Amino acid sequence: MRLIAATILAMILAAHGAAAQGSSPGEDSAFARFVSEFRATALASGITPQVYNAAMGKVGRNQRVADLNLNQPEFAAPIWSYLDSAVSPQRIADGRAVIAGDAAILAPIAVKFGVPQEILVSIWGNESDYGRSMGRFNMFEALATLAYDGPRTDYARPQLIAALKMMQREKYAAADMTSSWAGAFGQTQFVPTTFLNQAVDGDGDGKIDLWNSVADALASTANVISAAGWKNGKPWGYEVVLPKDFDYADADVDKAAPLAIWMKRGVKTTAGETLPPDDEPASLYLPAGARGPAFLAFANFKVILKYNNAASYALAVCLLADQLKGAAGIAAQWPRDEQPLNRDERLALQTALASLGYDIGKIDGLIGSKSRAALRAWQEKHALPADGFATENLLTRLAVEAKAD
Ligand code: CA
Repeated sequence: MRLIAATILAMILAAHGAAAQGSSPGEDSAFARFVSEFRATALASGITPQVYNAAMGKVGRNQRVADLNLNQPEFAAPIWSYLDSAVSPQRIADGRAVIAGDAAILAPIAVKFGVPQEILVSIWGNESDYGRSMGRFNMFEALATLAYDGPRTDYARPQLIAALKMMQREKYAAADMTSSWAGAFGQTQFVPTTFLNQAVDGDGDGKIDLWNSVADALASTANVISAAGWKNGKPWGYEVVLPKDFDYADADVDKAAPLAIWMKRGVKTTAGETLPPDDEPASLYLPAGARGPAFLAFANFKVILKYNNAASYALAVCLLADQLKGAAGIAAQWPRDEQPLNRDERLALQTALASLGYDIGKIDGLIGSKSRAALRAWQEKHALPADGFATENLLTRLAVEAKAD
């Protein structure tokens, strides 16, 4: 999750900082060979030679994209820093201004697709700061660089084919097709495969333009969210408070339980009241462990995760949407004195847990559900709150124990 948040940050920096800078085809003969070999794949997928030449004829390997592709940020921003900017007072004010000013565009889309306008505007704000940072790379150069080599070839090759199909079907000029370094584009940062399957013409002008038409972008986003199973009229979730002696073992964004179970365990609203009844199961999500805020997340939260599979992103979208509706911010405090573990520390944590006999899956520096489960088991054994949240303090204790073992 943190890695993804950091990747998003890197994408934002790249979008602000970098104009497309290609090397000429002659500079990198292996890359030029890839471009000419990929032509056969593209033509077999129905791309015309004219479209392939126009899109790929002058494409070079983009060094900035190649660097970003390999970048594993050493330090991840804590979730509270991410949310500080994702749900900043400016972001809230801008979103409210959009809702007040663009009601004629937003209301019909919200009604047609059954997705609240605040969710759509929040996604827009989170993806491109309401169109201010959509990415300025040439989409074909970015995707071809990722498709050529590095860790994202499996992602980028079908996206490159889809980008060519987009150009062919919609008759775009290649030069107008700008994207982030990762190939996401337009007001709500679609990827080409999603565009082909789910983009729609929101303003009825007969064309789909996710760069320049807010109505097209938000209607297309609404179409994706609706198809992912958004239940209109249902909450995404809400902040809760937990009793002092709470058992954190099942508090995980990847697990869900009937609301009755959470009620029985003493979960209350932030006002200290009984939870409103709901027939859907909910996950108890503690983004910063037992010392931070707690949220109940229903099926609609999982729908936002389908749009962008990072819990921090989904939380940012949902919290911004709430505030666009006039809700207050988070009631509980973040543990701002905690420093999230850096990559070496995460590797050390996993190594220590593995050496003590816990199954953490792969030692990869990513704290996923297996690592969290192992950490919880270790915390339980030591009568600590089993929140599975990795801190420096825990790492120190674990390292000492693993050494003595
Ligand atoms: Ca249109």
